[in-house]
Amino acid sequence: MKSAVRAVYPGSFDPITNGHIYIVERAAAIFDEVRVGILVNLQKKYTFDVEERHAMASEALSHLPNVVVDHFTGLLVDYMRQWEAKVIIRGLRAMSDFEYEFQMALTNRQLAPGIETFFIITDAQYSYLSSSLIRDIFKLGGAMDNVVPPCVFRRLRERFPALSRREE
Ligand code: ADP
Repeated sequence: MKSAVRAVYPGSFDPITNGHIYIVERAAAIFDEVRVGILVNLQKKYTFDVEERHAMASEALSHLPNVVVDHFTGLLVDYMRQWEAKVIIRGLRAMSDFEYEFQMALTNRQLAPGIETFFIITDAQYSYLSSSLIRDIFKLGGAMDNVVPPCVFRRLRERFPALSRREE
């Protein structure tokens, strides 16, 4: 019997956006199991801590039965080996993503030759979207509810109350 093909979609997901969700949905239609691996880099300062990022991603992806949300520290390839995952999923927006992604994919291949990086092109409507752009808009009091799921919108409002003031 053919064994299940497991893929890991690593990233900061600070917070998860509709662009990320689009990539997970497409990956989930191809692979048997997709594990969303939320990176905890101890050197990096996040807007949302890992529990919050995890809770938002779990809620936003609860409609996909073959998707698991998890978090990890350290090397991605070590995390992949732990789950016997063979595929790294990454999303591509524009040419500007390519250089960094190319470098990461070749580095991961050096570290673990049996692991493949699989790129999924975003949908045109999400091609400009990034977690950092969304955070900046909310910090400045802007509202963008069509780019993040409702659970993320709620948390962004709580974190950056300037938005609630503007709406009153
Ligand atoms: P990282 O810090 O690893 O870049 P991100 O959470 O920013 O973490 O992104 C994780 C992955 O999702 C990356 O492959 C990134 O290119 C992809 N991604 C981010 N935003 C979008 C989007 N709007 N559409 C498609 N892919 C995206």
